[in-house]
Amino acid sequence: MSSDQDLAKLIRDVPDFPKQGILFKDITTLLKDKDAFKKSIDLLAERFANDHIDKVVAAESRGFIFGAPLAYLLNAGFVPVRKLGRLPAKAIRAEYTLEYGTNFVEIHVDAIEPGEKVLIVDDLLATGGTVGATIELVKKLEGDIVALAFLVELSFLKGRERLKDYRIETIITY
Ligand code: AMP
Repeated sequence: MSSDQDLAKLIRDVPDFPKQGILFKDITTLLKDKDAFKKSIDLLAERFANDHIDKVVAAESRGFIFGAPLAYLLNAGFVPVRKLGRLPAKAIRAEYTLEYGTNFVEIHVDAIEPGEKVLIVDDLLATGGTVGATIELVKKLEGDIVALAFLVELSFLKGRERLKDYRIETIITY
């Protein structure tokens, strides 16, 4: 496993999923390859080796796949952002817009201390709408957002422009 291109080759394109006209980037074909999965995590972790991250925050469910091993490697805590009603203790919520209607995500109120350095992680950056809700939650808890990290970026959807106030690190760009 030598380069980002080798990783990109392991991502499967599934046309018309979950609906007509969407080219779905299926990462399960990369995840099941032990060298590729390790390389993906290592490449992401390298980017933040000197950032003294306190907490890695990731949204369910694919964000967890990358967020937890990154937190381990960066010697940081892991904070889950979950869909509505799944967190057991006191939580705050943020709403985000989907193509049809809206959705909510939640974070525990005691998950982040004011001023802690936070890295937000997800598998893929498309329009940036989903990660926006996680950003809102971290800001409400007064976390210091150091960067946003994604394995894959769909650059033609211009998520970077929407998130231009933030440092964004990605490994594979389409
Ligand atoms: P976004 O448009 O950035 O809010 O993307 C929303 C979420 O949907 C991301 O976290 C991705 O996991 C997923 N997603 C969006 N577009 C794709 C795609 N073409 N292939 C795979 N996953 C996608």
